[in-house]
Amino acid sequence: MATVGRVIKCRAAVAWEPNKPLVMEEIEVAPPQANEVRIKIVATAVCHTDLHHLLENMNKDGFPVVLGHEAAGIVESVGPGVTEIQPGDKVIPLFISQCRECRFCKSPKTNQCEKAWVGQHNVLSGPLSRFTCKGKKLMQFTGTSTFSEYTVVNQMAVAKIDPAAPLDKVCLLGCGICTGYGAAVNTAKVEPGSTCAVFGLGAVGLAAVMGCKAAGAKRIIAVDINPEKFDKAKVFGATDFVNPKDHSEPISQVLSKMTDGGVDFSLECVGNVGVMRSALESCVQGWGVSVIVGWTDLEDFSSRPVQLIAGRTWKGSAFGGFKGRDDVPKMVKAYLDKKLKVDEFITHNMTLDQVNDAIELMKHGKCIRTVMTVSPQ
Ligand code: NAD
Ligand code: ZN
Repeated sequence: MATVGRVIKCRAAVAWEPNKPLVMEEIEVAPPQANEVRIKIVATAVCHTDLHHLLENMNKDGFPVVLGHEAAGIVESVGPGVTEIQPGDKVIPLFISQCRECRFCKSPKTNQCEKAWVGQHNVLSGPLSRFTCKGKKLMQFTGTSTFSEYTVVNQMAVAKIDPAAPLDKVCLLGCGICTGYGAAVNTAKVEPGSTCAVFGLGAVGLAAVMGCKAAGAKRIIAVDINPEKFDKAKVFGATDFVNPKDHSEPISQVLSKMTDGGVDFSLECVGNVGVMRSALESCVQGWGVSVIVGWTDLEDFSSRPVQLIAGRTWKGSAFGGFKGRDDVPKMVKAYLDKKLKVDEFITHNMTLDQVNDAIELMKHGKCIRTVMTVSPQ
């Protein structure tokens, strides 16, 4: 291809500073270096973690940055040392790498790769970023940066997927769906016949509902302060619906009364330390397991030690515990085999130029996922 080995000039949505609209700019994307892969992004969606960086965390040291981490694309070129991936392959970039060599990758217990993108504020910066714009280096959010026509990612953070996969659908397997589904199946290890509660019904929470159902849960209580989400939760298998705003007593007491002492499994998919506490305290003593999935690093969380002493377990989950290079292709296959819902998460389709509209929709709870077309497939 004419672009191989050359800098590519392309369009990207740049976040120059916190809490300001993104700006469509022409950026330069350097050729992939050793062990790197340059990807033409075909489709990308907005996840709440992008909003967290832009609107909630807002640390100036994390800017200027190209956000986006839930995407799918086609490999344009590869750097020296890349063996398993070729130009033309369909791929999903991974915000948690899988080097297959570190002690975490070698353990079946975790997906926390030691070589995952490094750097503060969830960004690759300085010499590690392949992006420049107007003479300035741009940071790469979570080592991926998919709000761009092209990006460069380390081969450890690239999942090669079935060539039959529609990229404008399976892009959602790059974050939200795998995160929620895996949190239920891999981290909570939901058991057949159990009772579950899922707090927060965005794509992550709805995928957690889907995971609970797949694991055989008999009762799945969907909790959200936005009742517009309940119809969708039903589609994924929720059986009961609770709006905390309808109750004057703490939500953990409401759930406890509904379930004769508390749920077996709860999943926090909001990113709010108060909700994390409620989710833990909604679990039954003795064996209840609560999983933190929502993302925040702004505040400490707390509860009374007796909650754990009485036999509850508090856990966390990143990317649903999935080892990306091995497991994302399997999730794509499950979708192609009609064993996993994906289309049902997509409420809006846009183009990358409309990224600020997509962000507004999520900010106001008006979408589940907006998939943006970036380049033709
Ligand atoms: P989203 O904004 O689409 O959904 C969040 C939902 O929570 C909304 O429906 C909202 O109405 C609901 N909510 C807000 N406050 C609530 C409360 N007090 N009680 C109950 N519900 C409440 O977000 P999303 O994209 O689904 O992401 C959810 C969370 O998961 C975010 O914090 C995101 O950063 C995090 N996340 C974590 C990982 C991970 O690997 N752990 C990966 C992706 C996303
Ligand atoms: Zn995400």
